[in-house]
Amino acid sequence: MMPTQHSVSIPPLVRVKSGALQRIGKYMQRERMSNIAVFSSHGLPEEIPDCLLDSLQQHERNLVCREEICEGSFEHACLMFQRLPRNTDAIVGLGGGKAIDVAKYIAFLAGLPFISVPTSLSNDGFSSPQSSLTVDGKRRSLASRLPYGVLVDLDVCQQAPEILWLSGVGDLVSKLTAVIDWKLAYHHNKTAVNDFAALLSDATVMQFIANPTRAVTGLRTFAMALLLNGVAMELAGSSRPASGSEHLISHGLDSISQRPRLHGLQVGLATYCVSRLQGGQQTQRIHELFLSTGFWEAIRADPFDKDEFLQALRIAPKLKGDFHTVLNECDALLHVTQWIEEDPHLHGCFC
Ligand SMILES: [Zn+2]
Repeated sequence: MMPTQHSVSIPPLVRVKSGALQRIGKYMQRERMSNIAVFSSHGLPEEIPDCLLDSLQQHERNLVCREEICEGSFEHACLMFQRLPRNTDAIVGLGGGKAIDVAKYIAFLAGLPFISVPTSLSNDGFSSPQSSLTVDGKRRSLASRLPYGVLVDLDVCQQAPEILWLSGVGDLVSKLTAVIDWKLAYHHNKTAVNDFAALLSDATVMQFIANPTRAVTGLRTFAMALLLNGVAMELAGSSRPASGSEHLISHGLDSISQRPRLHGLQVGLATYCVSRLQGGQQTQRIHELFLSTGFWEAIRADPFDKDEFLQALRIAPKLKGDFHTVLNECDALLHVTQWIEEDPHLHGCFC
């Protein structure tokens, strides 16, 4: 039997540039989207939503719904969906994680195009086909759909706190270990690997590693890399190109930690450890990136709880059913416990 190819939908509207936010009205006009619902993160500097709303008004777009999102839950997204006016043509999510995840999920439920407008680049959620929401208080990754449009205003993202960018660095670099886990899963149980998606995932990280700065040029490559990872997931029809055992450890921390950290900080630290478990071919590269970006420094400024991290590592392999990773192939707990004490790069990262 011939293998089947699933249909993929790539965002047709993509802008990664300075000043994209103030042009949103023009983009919506070109797309003939008249009635727009806007969901923005609570607590954004006022000028950011104001800039977006002014642009919609200038280009005579109707604002049919405007909500601030304080809660990233499935229940809240369903409530907002019920309140959505019937004449809505498109849904805009503006902000950090929560507003994007909630707005993306509402658009998915409503079957409407979603326009993703991130104000920081702290993870790949702004262009992924999933929504990270809590369900009954527990964080889950729910199937959703890739955005129709992704508008990254580089000036806006550059103004976001540096720690958010570092979180994005951690989430991006995890693609290196995720792809290796994916290949291990192929050898273990013939989990299908989409070579093109794996290549895209690897290549985008390498491009950023070549110029890992927060200056506009580096930020542009960075945003594109995160964006293309979303596309890689869509191509693969799974989260495999973007998420492996390092994400399982982060999910473990989300469920047991007294104080879960930013997604990409958890994932980045786990990526370093997982790269060693995978034989170390990416370890030096990851270390150098963490050194040059200040990722290590940020972790040491607010170290992780060692016991919690090890507990997360212990439960990680059971968190996603039949999802084979390097954690199923070695005594991860034994090795990581030892490295926390002995690896000079991990020195000061745990308390
Ligand atoms: Zn992630």
